[in-house]
Amino acid sequence: MAKFRRIGVLTSGGDAPGMNAAVRAVVRTGLAHGIEVYAIMEGYKGLVENNMRLIKNPSEVSNIIGQSGTAIYTERCPEFATEEGMAAAIKTCRENQIDGIIAIGGDGTFRGATDIASRGIPTIGVPGTIDNDIAATDYTIGLDTACNTVVTFVDSLRATCESHARCNVVEVMGRHAGHIALRTAVATGAVAVAVAEFDFDEDEVIKNIIEKRKAGKRGFVVIVSEGIPGYAEKLTKIIEQKTGIVTRFCCPAHVQRGGIPTLEDRLTASEMGEYAVKQLLDGKSDVVICKNGGKLCTVDISRALKVDRMLKGKLTAEEEAALTPEEREYMTARCAEVRANMKALYDLVYEIR
Ligand code: ADP
Repeated sequence: MAKFRRIGVLTSGGDAPGMNAAVRAVVRTGLAHGIEVYAIMEGYKGLVENNMRLIKNPSEVSNIIGQSGTAIYTERCPEFATEEGMAAAIKTCRENQIDGIIAIGGDGTFRGATDIASRGIPTIGVPGTIDNDIAATDYTIGLDTACNTVVTFVDSLRATCESHARCNVVEVMGRHAGHIALRTAVATGAVAVAVAEFDFDEDEVIKNIIEKRKAGKRGFVVIVSEGIPGYAEKLTKIIEQKTGIVTRFCCPAHVQRGGIPTLEDRLTASEMGEYAVKQLLDGKSDVVICKNGGKLCTVDISRALKVDRMLKGKLTAEEEAALTPEEREYMTARCAEVRANMKALYDLVYEIR
């Protein structure tokens, strides 16, 4: 523990509500352990450009727990992923005597964290992304707020939808993953949901909407994940053509990232931020903090990234062949669990529509 005198915290990649709560927890936990904490500004860009701020007082992170976005800013920094950028980042760490880093972000951020860790600076990843697309963890900071923002958005659409007897097709974020779509489809009472992970029976959905209209249903909501690029707009036209119901395309877009962090996100971010610092002090590095079955744990970043690739069917033949039996068992089970959880939500939408 004596080894750590000064650590850095950064937020990187897409902003997510709850990142501030994680930053606050990292800073306060560090200070409580007598460690100096640097806020590294604008993600890895701050490391490359030596832009950071020493936080001397816990009050410097007061009042950020309830703010969306990230008070220490974020940037996408392609330069960091180059040899020169990485060398500059490591120089910054050495010059400022930073003994460890907590990097809050998504899978790109974790790749960067591994690169820093492999150059001798212990680094821990905290999952902060509304997409929940880190398969090693049940939950990523920001998911709940983003979902609640979509629910509020769709609830507002409902008024016009019902009054005018229309259908709304709503495209939601999630990148390649359908977590936001599945959760919000259940919570908004959608008549259908389309995600990249499962086949979508367009004809059956059209038939169902026509039947429901005949039975007197006025308004319809269909949720489509951005994981199927362009499909939401296409489906809007198809539904209108085939059912005769006026159908509108809607997209809450980046509003989904800007909601006031919910209790769930503040809580998880606070837990993960504190846990991350303690794991760092315990000598862990090159791991991502995960919350599975309600319990915090760490997973090696390389393993976490491999599970993601396996889930997306993108594991290379060489990677597949190099898996140890234990790794294969863990990864196969984890992918099956994630798929089963998503499938349960998908089925629920159609069961109770
Ligand atoms: P997220 O972390 O939300 O997935 P990005 O994929 O944009 O977001 O990654 C955030 C940042 O992490 C990038 O701008 C870059 O600085 C760094 N990064 C991404 N991929 C790599 C990589 N392969 N190696 C090193 N750094 C990376």
